[in-house]
Amino acid sequence: MVSSAIIAVSYCFTTIAHYMIPVTRTYLPPLEEYTHYLQGIWESSQVSNFGSLNQELEAKLMNFLQVSNLAYVSSGTIGLQLSIKALGLGGRVITTPFSYVATTSSLVWEGCHPVFVDINPQTLTIDPQKIEEAITDDTSAILATHIFGIPNDIESISEIASANNIKVIYDAAHAFGVNYKGKSLVGYGDISVLSFHATKLFHTVEGGGVVCRNPDIAEKIDYMRNFGHSGEESFSGLGINGKNSELHAAMGLSVLPKVAEIIVGRKQVSKLYDEQLSNLTCIVKPVIPEYVEYNYSHYPVLFPDERVLLRVKQALNEKEIFPRRYFYPSLSTLPYVEAYDVPIARSASERVLCLPLHHQLAADEVEAVCRIIKNTLAGVKI
Ligand SMILES: *Cc1c(COP(=O)(O)O)cnc(C)c1O
Repeated sequence: MVSSAIIAVSYCFTTIAHYMIPVTRTYLPPLEEYTHYLQGIWESSQVSNFGSLNQELEAKLMNFLQVSNLAYVSSGTIGLQLSIKALGLGGRVITTPFSYVATTSSLVWEGCHPVFVDINPQTLTIDPQKIEEAITDDTSAILATHIFGIPNDIESISEIASANNIKVIYDAAHAFGVNYKGKSLVGYGDISVLSFHATKLFHTVEGGGVVCRNPDIAEKIDYMRNFGHSGEESFSGLGINGKNSELHAAMGLSVLPKVAEIIVGRKQVSKLYDEQLSNLTCIVKPVIPEYVEYNYSHYPVLFPDERVLLRVKQALNEKEIFPRRYFYPSLSTLPYVEAYDVPIARSASERVLCLPLHHQLAADEVEAVCRIIKNTLAGVKI
């Protein structure tokens, strides 16, 4: 029994710690910190329905993010759908083709028609000038993603939205801990939606957060995420089950105190990648705009073309290193949307690769990744 446990452990170490490198690794707190919260759940036997841990997590997140409301929900995707519903959006919504599928699918699921406009090749966020050109009488909103935690052109988007009397939702799934002009990035727009999925920098295993500028909309989302209940036997309107459990909140409460440390670790790993890759002029990194305190949510690099990307990816995969094509394909090619011509986004999707990144990725692992990239690039014609 004892010896098989030892074999299992050492097997894990050799296969996972030294050879297999996934794109990211979920931060798990020391087990006793999580079980401390579980103890309380077992004592009260309240496992869901806005128990004390949900309330504590919401309060701590509002404090951390410096926002006046935050609805903790079951996922970022349900947060986006609640936001679209609560703002009463319909018709056309202008959105980015360079994001995760949930940005687009939420719109379609809520009966909106996504209108894709192209992105800025430097920041990979939606290009405000192209938003302006795409607005029609039937446009109700802009849904833009702070992709990889890189802020959108907030000022321009806000001006365009107020001049045309349309709403702004930010998909802030990657934006936890990013500050823009000294203020949390999730404080901008009519609504910002965070994801707390296990692959994100701050997580609650599954979960999301909705931050609203307008308190009436915040209240509406509060009802909507709980079936529309305004009391035990009364309903204020249509709702859905978008709430989250006490066990998920417990994970959030255990992870939140480590976020600062997680960001510092990711920054160090990112700097090491920067150094190692600095003389590879054919690799381009997206530009982080001024006034941004970044969270190092991803380490994206763009190769000269898809052929080179595929060669590099394959060489890494052969060594059990698994970067991911975040985000490929361009969302305007999804089978259930109208196709738009967005050449910059299409090109970025074909060329972008997110290298492995988590706060404890070892220097020798980063060096191994970079060595393989360099060797592969030396062998291909560019
Ligand atoms: C992860 C992610 C989502 C979805 O969040 P879930 O919590 O997994 O539902 C939405 N948009 C972007 C850009 C994401 O990366």
